[in-house]
Amino acid sequence: MTTVESAPTTQPTWRPPAGALWSGRWVDGASAMPVHDPEDGSLLGHVTDTCPTEVDRAVTDVAAAVESGEDWPAWQRREALDAAARLVLRHRERLTEVISREGCKTVREASSEVSRAAETLRLSAQQTARLIGETLPFSDTPRGEGRLGWYTREPVGVVAAITPFNDPLNLVAHKVGPALAGGNGVVLKPAEATPLTALAFAEILLDAGVPAGRLAVTPGTGAGAGRALVGHPLVDLVSFTGGFHTGNEVARAAGAKKTLMELGGNNAVLVLDDAAREAAAQAVVTGAFGVAGQNCLSVQRVFVASRIADRFIRDVVTATEALRVGSKADPRTDIGPLISEREARRIREWVREAREGGAEVRTGGRQKGAFHWPTVLTGVPADAKVMTEEIFGPVLVIESFGTLEEAVSRANDTRYGLQAGIFTTALETALDLAERLRVGAVMINDSSDFRIDAMPFGGPKRSGVGREGVRYAVEAMTEPKIVAVRRGA
Ligand code: NAD
Repeated sequence: MTTVESAPTTQPTWRPPAGALWSGRWVDGASAMPVHDPEDGSLLGHVTDTCPTEVDRAVTDVAAAVESGEDWPAWQRREALDAAARLVLRHRERLTEVISREGCKTVREASSEVSRAAETLRLSAQQTARLIGETLPFSDTPRGEGRLGWYTREPVGVVAAITPFNDPLNLVAHKVGPALAGGNGVVLKPAEATPLTALAFAEILLDAGVPAGRLAVTPGTGAGAGRALVGHPLVDLVSFTGGFHTGNEVARAAGAKKTLMELGGNNAVLVLDDAAREAAAQAVVTGAFGVAGQNCLSVQRVFVASRIADRFIRDVVTATEALRVGSKADPRTDIGPLISEREARRIREWVREAREGGAEVRTGGRQKGAFHWPTVLTGVPADAKVMTEEIFGPVLVIESFGTLEEAVSRANDTRYGLQAGIFTTALETALDLAERLRVGAVMINDSSDFRIDAMPFGGPKRSGVGREGVRYAVEAMTEPKIVAVRRGA
């Protein structure tokens, strides 16, 4: 494994027009907060640290724009979202630089996120044609006879979008795209670490023709701007992506508002003894260590049939050691930094706890600054945090199993339920296991780390409330409204 090379210290070439966007204008609020590159701590710029009074202004003005009945018909929404998809691709270089500098993605990972975000916007544009209702069978009951009625899909109103740091463009697009497609207004509070990407995206949306009054971006802290936004009485729906514990706080602050939550994962992969072993090992390594494990779909736990366990672990260790740890700016880098040195130290601490409980570090286990080397652990005690909690870092646990019953029960032994993977050449067995895994999606002959943006996305237990994925988010962000005509009145 290569060691960390010196990071770039230049300033990003793009700067936001101001630190925030509200009331249809780029504005600098009363307080500013710095944005740093986690790789070397260099200062990248400042954005507004939006205070509750400013959040109130932003929400009130978006609500007024939505309430005013300002005409923004579905076809114009479709054209704006399609134009935004094209502009995102045209500005790939700028967006790649901003995502990678302020966040934790390598330039390669950031560039592929840009493509995903364009796809999410294109899917959002298509959904304007699917805002369909249906006629209702009023005459099916004597009380309804003589009535004719139908429902249409109407916007909920103001959507509060709260997003995490790890996909700072595409996860914003997954909220803003469907909300706008459905005819809503949006107030976006991006993660503290990655507000510049959100502002760069907002600039593109305005250029694409999204009416300025419909969109506000209020950067700031979770406890400040985030809490004020969630609790605001004019917010009609909160769409939150982040950790489970934050999700609990958001639910408390939101009260009886409609909420959608995409939370964490502690994803398992089962490798059966008839699996294509080397291919499975490669997929597991890619799924565990992409974006240095900072991905809700990361593979965290692997259960491998005992007959092939030794050889599989050897394959995984070899593939892990071939990964290049280094600067995000270097296109040859496979593993960049964590989002902060604090996070890298937390991960080191969790690995230490597992080690003290008897776990063996098969490779990795090293931390320097914001970097943590990709780490493979075996013999982890069942109650260690790396087993029970979401690690959100480059650590993979591998355990062997004897029977399929044992494999399923250990995979399900978590409070999370996002996705899972199964490697086997026996289709019947795969389908049987897929039925028994308590997760939102099962990938057969792939790791848990696969998603297309059109999928209904989310999972049971601590992994969320409701489903994202463009079509499903548009459904959640619109509501049926009935019109009934009493004939011959
Ligand atoms: P986080 O929970 O720390 O923060 C998420 C967002 O919530 C940030 O914008 C933060 O400022 C805001 N926030 C914090 N406290 C708040 C409060 N009291 N009120 C309102 N907003 C508040 O998450 P993170 O560290 O940015 O991201 C990592 C987490 O996100 C992981 O748990 C990961 O699994 C999850 N995630 C889930 C998905 C998914 O689709 N299921 C996708 C990506 C990330």
